[in-house]
Amino acid sequence: MISVEEALERILSYVHVLEAEEKPILDALGQALAEDVVSGIDIPPHDNTAMDGYAVRAADTAGASEQTPVQLKVAGELAAGYVFEGHVAPGTAVRIMTGAPMPRGADAVVPFEETDEPEGRAFGSFAKSRDAVGILKAAEPGANVRKAAEDVRAGQRILPKGTVLRPAQVGVLASLGLATVKVHRRPVVAVLSTGDEVQEPGKPLRPGQIYDSNAWSISAMVLECGGIPKRLGIAKDTVDALTAKIREGLDADMLVTSAGVSRGDYDVVKDVLAKEGEVDFWTVRMRPGKPLAFGAFQSGGRRVPHIGLPGNPVSSMVSFELFGRPAVYTMLGRGDWQRPRVRAIAEEEIPNTDARRVYARAIVRQRDGRWYAALTGPQGSGILTSMAEANALAIVPEDVPGVQPGDEVEAILLD
Ligand code: AMP
Ligand code: MG
Repeated sequence: MISVEEALERILSYVHVLEAEEKPILDALGQALAEDVVSGIDIPPHDNTAMDGYAVRAADTAGASEQTPVQLKVAGELAAGYVFEGHVAPGTAVRIMTGAPMPRGADAVVPFEETDEPEGRAFGSFAKSRDAVGILKAAEPGANVRKAAEDVRAGQRILPKGTVLRPAQVGVLASLGLATVKVHRRPVVAVLSTGDEVQEPGKPLRPGQIYDSNAWSISAMVLECGGIPKRLGIAKDTVDALTAKIREGLDADMLVTSAGVSRGDYDVVKDVLAKEGEVDFWTVRMRPGKPLAFGAFQSGGRRVPHIGLPGNPVSSMVSFELFGRPAVYTMLGRGDWQRPRVRAIAEEEIPNTDARRVYARAIVRQRDGRWYAALTGPQGSGILTSMAEANALAIVPEDVPGVQPGDEVEAILLD
């Protein structure tokens, strides 16, 4: 039996970041940049006004006050999206709206509030038709002007290779005028359930059967962490049936099966892996999820890693969380697969009977600045509803015989 760390290290040694693809920026949400993004433009592209008001020559406003307003001739009006063709000569001003480029000659903007144009009339025809404005306060050069390139300079590296695209990064790409972006491709993960007893949801259950939940929870986890699940359905517990199904999955970047990895008579996943591929390890010192087969198949010169998850629905999810998710992230070029962890006070006993690392399904919550962890009920590895209620996995280390109420435990936050 190897440790969780060693199992993860071995699995990650089989996966690598996938090649780049170019795709529309919104479709790349959650993917990592395959190259630096360098701006081709200045942002903003031109000096522009940060306020609605009057573009002026600051020098013209020297000494202006409410008692001694400076009168300027209004030379025109400018909305955002347009360019003022003329020139702001001494003694003149241009009425200007936020975002509009600064007219030549002007070097400051006096907001409406600091002129004799009352705010309430700012948008009326009275205001538009006026041909002079009284400035009530002197403006410093540059006042209320957003300088060209103050956010981004052309040629500047804006997002480094490896950056994960979140909504703000998608916005930044759009602001640079980019419609598409180069990111590492999402891995295709083939998902296969095994077992003579397992039936597709939506079909009637015959005596002795149970519904396949693993393919669905695992496919959902694949999707959630950025992979593309390719569901292969259900294989019967025979070497031939399993081999045929596995071959269908070998064009994927990774193969994930569930069940058939313990010591029972019909647990043939390991046999097929040993016969058709190579087995790296098949037990991990953890609970739930001790039986976990890992290895790889060769396919067209490629090595396709295979995680053989245990069949019990909780074991299968916990094992994918600990090993499958980091593998998917690695293929995406993402190193940020570690979830936040907290130290919580156990509200009940969490036993550890056989020196494995326990991952208990827990609900953690914060009270008076401290975290507390309660179990989600019976911890049998077949009790999938215990997983559905959990927002964390509370960890009992392999060398700790159990956690008592009031003891501290480390918990992985799942959402
Ligand atoms: P096994 O590893 O094949 O011994 O399976 C362990 C337990 O998990 C058995 O009770 C199986 O019936 C159950 N199981 C196996 N595959 C699935 C599945 N796809 N969905 C739900 N339960 C499963
Ligand atoms: Mg089975």
